[in-house]
Amino acid sequence: MKVSIKAPAKINLSLDVLRKRNDGYHEVKMIMTMVDLADRIDLTNCDSGKITVDVSEGFVPNDERNFAYQAAALLKKKYKVSAGVHIYITKRIPVAAGLAGGSSDAAATLKGLNQLWELGLTLDQLAELGAEIGSDVSFCVYGGTALATGRGEIIESIPSPPPLWVILAKPPIGVSTKEIYGNVKLHRAKHADTDAMLTALENQDTDGIFAHLHNTLEDVTLELYPEVKHLKDQMKRFGADAVLMSGSGPTVFGLVKTESRVNRIYNGLRGFCEEVHAVRLIRTSNTCPKPDESDIL
Ligand code: ATP
Repeated sequence: MKVSIKAPAKINLSLDVLRKRNDGYHEVKMIMTMVDLADRIDLTNCDSGKITVDVSEGFVPNDERNFAYQAAALLKKKYKVSAGVHIYITKRIPVAAGLAGGSSDAAATLKGLNQLWELGLTLDQLAELGAEIGSDVSFCVYGGTALATGRGEIIESIPSPPPLWVILAKPPIGVSTKEIYGNVKLHRAKHADTDAMLTALENQDTDGIFAHLHNTLEDVTLELYPEVKHLKDQMKRFGADAVLMSGSGPTVFGLVKTESRVNRIYNGLRGFCEEVHAVRLIRTSNTCPKPDESDIL
């Protein structure tokens, strides 16, 4: 028995850091949405009872450090599953890029194994398990567009943005999420107007969305890594309607209304940046999370 499932990347339309908590995490308020750049996860049942992982990219761990492995191990232990699984991950999402690639692989593995091992769990149950692996995993379980609060694991589905193109560009550096959060100075950070972004999404107001894109971590990363600022400036210069860094970076995304302009920006950026993708936002019509097998290939 085999199940194949897509694990899409996310971008942050808004990311606000509210305060540092006693447990060491930061309290955040974020609006996240999925884009159609996805890893592929192939799950094959295995009688040996073992969990094994192979990844198309050599530098991603293929042992218990892999988030997909952790997802399988968690389900296996919690639901006393005797079967094992072989997980093959075809990586397309840039790694350590602010696009939640590892979290999405974990979420897809939870959803795929729910089917392969016939566990009958709801999305809410899978999202709760996901939060034990990482703060972004719960969002990746639901997909679509959501407001995420707490340390990022409290999810409320909200309307998707209008249809837009997204250009993703990653400079050739890896950024540690821990380092960026560690350097946020909350007393002088610029905060996001999340409520204004929510209103813009509810009204499907494209210009409102462009105007309220904000990421509180951006100034921190830009100061430490000036190449991210350079990439942002270039993307604007080539004609993106609005540009922001995703997560803790270093990926920068541009939102674009028209396909002809997307091609121009893509070609312009490819001249000096190796990792550029032109993709669409993944839009969902329902705002009420239900068990959803639409990512199963
Ligand atoms: P986030 O936006 O959630 O902070 P990210 O996009 O910045 O995440 P990831 O691509 O998830 O970063 O990778 C972060 C680290 O996680 C990598 O250094 C990698 O070693 C490790 N990792 C574990 N499992 C995976 C996986 N399945 N895919 C990618 N990286 C993984």
